[in-house]
Amino acid sequence: MSGTLIPYPTQQQQQHQHQQCQLYCGGCGTLLVYPYGSNHVRCALCSFVTNAPAHLNCGSCGLLLMYPAGAHAVKCSSCQFITCLAPQTQTVIVENPMTLDDSGQLVSSVAVGITTKHA
Ligand SMILES: [Zn+2]
Ligand SMILES: [Zn+2]
Repeated sequence: MSGTLIPYPTQQQQQHQHQQCQLYCGGCGTLLVYPYGSNHVRCALCSFVTNAPAHLNCGSCGLLLMYPAGAHAVKCSSCQFITCLAPQTQTVIVENPMTLDDSGQLVSSVAVGITTKHA
């Protein structure tokens, strides 16, 4: 038997960088390392599943930005551009015609509604 080890080819390094990100476990606070792109990180110690911050590229300068899950807009730390995260709904404020109240003063009635934006 030959125990010759065949060296693993290292010339074909993958183009994709295996970026690693870090976050603190939401359960026990342990610093966890997870691969870039993961949405959830499960703690090896307490099995708590922590939502990983999401990433996007700034709509203006292209800088990679990190934002907490559930955010609606991200402000670029470099160019201050605010990138909106494709909101499903849009808050609209509808101002109705002013009305008179019992004492004869004008009262503006403002209604706030949520609408689904159709392109
Ligand atoms: Zn944990
Ligand atoms: Zn930017």
